[in-house]
This record gives sequence, C-alpha cells and structure tokens, in this order.
Amino acid sequence: MTEDQSAAEKEVEVAGPPATREEIIEECEAPAEEPAEPITPVKMKKPRAKAKPSITKEEIVLAVLEATKPPPKPDKPDKNKELVTCPDCGLTITYHNLRYTHKRYCKGIKEAPITSLQLALPPPPPALERTTTVTEEVVNTYIKNNPEVVTNYLRNERANKANKRQVNAKALLVGAM
Ligand SMILES: [Zn+2]
Repeated sequence: MTEDQSAAEKEVEVAGPPATREEIIEECEAPAEEPAEPITPVKMKKPRAKAKPSITKEEIVLAVLEATKPPPKPDKPDKNKELVTCPDCGLTITYHNLRYTHKRYCKGIKEAPITSLQLALPPPPPALERTTTVTEEVVNTYIKNNPEVVTNYLRNERANKANKRQVNAKALLVGAM
C-alpha cells in the first residue's frame, strides 16, 4: 500500500501542473535569484584570489625580522647618549662627548698640559748650544787624533781653490778677448 501511494504521489507531482498560487510564485522568484547569485560571486572571487598571493611568506618573514631587529640597535647609541660626569672638570655630559669632543674644551684637563708644555719648551735652546759645542769639541779631538786626514783635507781645499783661480783667470782672459 505505501509503495503504491508514494508512486502515485510522485506521478501527481511530475505530471500534475502547479495548481496553487504559492507554487507559481515560488517558481517565478526562483529563476530570478539563480542568475544573480552565480554572476556576483565569480567577480568577487577573482580579485580576492589575486590579493592573497601579494603577501608572501617571505614578506611576512621580513616583517617579523624587521620587528625583531630594532631592539639591538638602540643599545649602541644609548651607550654614547649616557650622561657621565667628567672626572677632570665634573661637568655632566654624554659618554660620546666625554670620549671625543670634550677633551678639547675640558677646563680641568687644559690647565695641566699647558703648564707641562710651558716647562717643556725652555729646554730646547740649551740643546742647540750643546750640539754646536759638541761639534767644535768633536772637530778639535778629531784633528788631534787624525792629523793626516786634516792635512789631506787642507790639500784638497788648496787644490780646489787653485782650480777656481785658474777658472777665474780663464774667464778674465775670455772677457778681455
Ligand atoms: Zn671635563
């Protein structure tokens, strides 16, 4: 009995045309919605699919590295920016300023080196006197110890003077001619 009844109902649904108004409205509304649904989702899916690959894993890794890098960088400048008191003048300045530029302007350091330089300057003059005196002494002792060398030197000088006299004499003759 049930089989016959279900078969009969199917035959009625397939064969029998919609009699009620509700069925007609459903059929009319259904086709109008169907074309609108497939067109809009296809257009929306394409740009979304293109936008996703723009952000790659490498870019994410780089972004993570950039976010993790900054911490070590500020440590270096912080050391130079640390405020330190100068041991010579007691002025509070940055570590970088104390290590490099402050030495030129530090009042505590300037006083000591200038005095030391002023004391160091006088000595040089006696050093020059010593060199002159030493050379004279050395020459005298050298002449006493090596008279032959001195005599030879004097002979060479006399010979040179004689040559110069000859050259001067020739020049005078040439000028007279
Ligand atoms: Zn100082």
